[in-house]
Amino acid sequence: MEFIEQYKPWIGEEESREVNNYLRGGGYLTEFRKTKEFADALRDFTGAKYCSIVANGTVSLTAACLALGIDKREDEVIVPDYTMIASANAVVMAGSTPVFADVEPGTMCLSLESLMRQVTARTRAIMLVSINGRYPDQLHEILDFCSHRKIAVIEDAAQSLGSFHQGRHVGLYGDIGSFSFSMPKIITTGQGGALVTNREDVYRRIELIKNFGRESAGIDKHIAYGVNFKFTDLQAVIGLEQLKKIQERIQRKKANYSRLREGLKGNPVAFFATSEDVVPWFNDILVEDPIGLQNHLKQLKIGSRPFYPTIHTQAPYHQAGEFPHATYLSTHGLWLPSYPQLSISDMDRIVEGVASYYR
Ligand SMILES: *Cc1c(COP(=O)(O)O)cnc(C)c1O
Repeated sequence: MEFIEQYKPWIGEEESREVNNYLRGGGYLTEFRKTKEFADALRDFTGAKYCSIVANGTVSLTAACLALGIDKREDEVIVPDYTMIASANAVVMAGSTPVFADVEPGTMCLSLESLMRQVTARTRAIMLVSINGRYPDQLHEILDFCSHRKIAVIEDAAQSLGSFHQGRHVGLYGDIGSFSFSMPKIITTGQGGALVTNREDVYRRIELIKNFGRESAGIDKHIAYGVNFKFTDLQAVIGLEQLKKIQERIQRKKANYSRLREGLKGNPVAFFATSEDVVPWFNDILVEDPIGLQNHLKQLKIGSRPFYPTIHTQAPYHQAGEFPHATYLSTHGLWLPSYPQLSISDMDRIVEGVASYYR
């Protein structure tokens, strides 16, 4: 029996053909026309007014902070204590300070109540992380709170490409939204990131920041501080092909998630409320003993991965604080195999594997 990984990439003939065509066509490899095409395709897919492509989904968040002028030690950004650690690290890289807040137990997203407790006169932005494509239940209250206090909203939508909320793509409720194309994300270019925004001023600043502050490409006149967060056309060629097939990836993810939910009914396994407009990026479950279940599945040649640790317990941020929901989630969650090419028989094996732990 083959080992079912928790995740693996899905690269088809189309990607392989287009990369070869690109290389044979004598492309410049670095970002140029193909990257622009990829940005335009993502802009159209999400419905954003502007889209910039950058090297990954961490520097995208750093660029977002810099573009909003959030770059000083005294500038605080509220980050959920439950997220992938890049959401916090990107704030530090921009020169500002992350302040942690607890999350909603039902969505794993930033909680309004905790946000209100952590906010200070120095709060410049929040990092609104749409964990697994889902928004917080109190999204609109959070957005109103921030808008009244002139606090910027940076959306870390790294996991949310293809997820919508009330007809709008996730990542477009805030000032700027960020996506990642690392290997396990909804589509992948190996490494890669994108920023979407409806604000022209923010878009213009991102384009400067990612390319040494150059007013126009290839001309060494620098009108702002900038670094090198650029992408490559070689990756853009892959991204364009992945994006063409995104609907199939989304449908498969949704169908596999439903199969899991149905199949595990009656077991002591909890699922998060998930609207039809959300693409469940990872098949996330809450159980009493995730490590026990993980070990059991491993013996059955099924991979899984425990949820992220809480950020406040990790070496770079180690600090006291009460984050009961984040703490509960990070010690009770397990990601089951989640790659879109999982077949119906793979899903049956996973369901049976989990159920057998509870028999
Ligand atoms: C993957 C991820 C990132 C980081 O993206 P990279 O492209 O790996 O740098 C940031 N935030 C969240 C929520 C993620 O899932």
